[in-house]
Amino acid sequence: MARDKSNNTLMEKLTSLCKRRGFIFHSSEIYGGINGFWDYGPYGTALKRAVEQLWWSYMVETRSNVEGLDSTVICHPKVWQASGHLDKFGDMMTDCKECKARHRVDQMEDSKKCPNCGSDNLTEPREFNLMMKTFVGPVFDEDHAAYLRAETCQPIFIDFHHVRVATRQKLPFGIGQIGKAFRNEINPRNFTFRSREFSQMEMEFFCKEEESMEWYEYWKEERINFYKNELKFKDDEIRIHDHGDQLAHYAKAALDIEFLFPFGWGELEGVHHRGTWDLTQHQEFSGESMEYFDQESNSKFIPTCIETSVGVDRTILALLCNAYDEDKAETKKEGKAEDGRVVLRFPAKLAPVQAAILPLSKKLADPAEKIYKDIRKHFRAEFDITGSIGKRYRRQDEIGTPYCVTFDFDSLDDNSVTLRDRDTMAQERISADKIIDVLREKIGY
Ligand code: ATP
Repeated sequence: MARDKSNNTLMEKLTSLCKRRGFIFHSSEIYGGINGFWDYGPYGTALKRAVEQLWWSYMVETRSNVEGLDSTVICHPKVWQASGHLDKFGDMMTDCKECKARHRVDQMEDSKKCPNCGSDNLTEPREFNLMMKTFVGPVFDEDHAAYLRAETCQPIFIDFHHVRVATRQKLPFGIGQIGKAFRNEINPRNFTFRSREFSQMEMEFFCKEEESMEWYEYWKEERINFYKNELKFKDDEIRIHDHGDQLAHYAKAALDIEFLFPFGWGELEGVHHRGTWDLTQHQEFSGESMEYFDQESNSKFIPTCIETSVGVDRTILALLCNAYDEDKAETKKEGKAEDGRVVLRFPAKLAPVQAAILPLSKKLADPAEKIYKDIRKHFRAEFDITGSIGKRYRRQDEIGTPYCVTFDFDSLDDNSVTLRDRDTMAQERISADKIIDVLREKIGY
């Protein structure tokens, strides 16, 4: 069956698969769950780490002009005053007095009608700040209030000089960070798409004002290449939403990279020209200079910043939607009795399990396990001995394992194994000694 991206039951199927196979489930479910919070199970964790590692390698490790940072979730509260989050980071919300549903006004088709029950008995819209509040130290009063970061980038601005001095970087250069962010979203929904706790992968690139639009275009291209070449999203699954002249007062340009989710187009990433806004604000609020001394021109100025900001959880959700497939016809080709299969067609580099080693019989466990132990030194691997081989293939298809390595009785004599491809279901016999090399080539390391 062809994938139908507009099919809303796809979200239900995915949510259920994610729970059943240990990708993602509700946090604190035994207590009834907590809205907007999700746990990643074993396969979800492996996928998440692979996505983060891919981004880190693409954005930080393979570039000499981007450095890494791992800052705290809680910063000095003044950081959020300076960034404007305490004053302005909010949404307008309204409550329905009839059905008690709460809505974000900007997400309502008709701001006078409850999207849940159709009633017009709504409260006046009021501002709702999305910052999550906590207290630092033993006294729970306003003097000790602090906030969980609403985005990972503000600490990057705060640490700009520390990183610059420590690494002797000169403009242009960037600082990247992966970490948790928290927003008290009014209406968490669409599975992990809008969560209250989520992870971001952000990079702030500092440059001279006169070069900034070139860098903006450069990063826009780089990020699109990431989605197309690394995550294998197709042209009709991603699009650019340019903000045009709907810009923050300090911004010169901004765009969203959107993905076609089953519930419609949704933002995956923002690429923003932030001007000198953030560093200027922190200079003003802290009293510390955020200026950069440029030796070439013998002048001091506040660098201009281009930001790329993507949510890890939305990326994973997009990968899951993109990967999900059901095929009946192909199963018949393999000559199995099973009624079709569910398959997650993840790119092999990102699959939570990249190779599954399956001894045909329990009697073959020992020699097969030896191969498994070799393979797992190089790839994310799993050893599965229970159930018929057909069932085991289906299990691996369902979690997106690109390659299964089957060890049968002939393997004892000819030292060969069968390599089965998830997508084509083609099987080839290869020497057990070559398996690491073959997998390396196929997975693309
Ligand atoms: P939205 O308009 O969807 O609320 P945003 O424009 O506020 O998103 P940014 O502040 O630009 O988002 O954050 C950068 C990225 O962080 C987003 O593109 C998205 O991938 C991710 N993100 C933001 N809010 C959430 C959330 N509540 N849950 C999951 N990911 C999020």
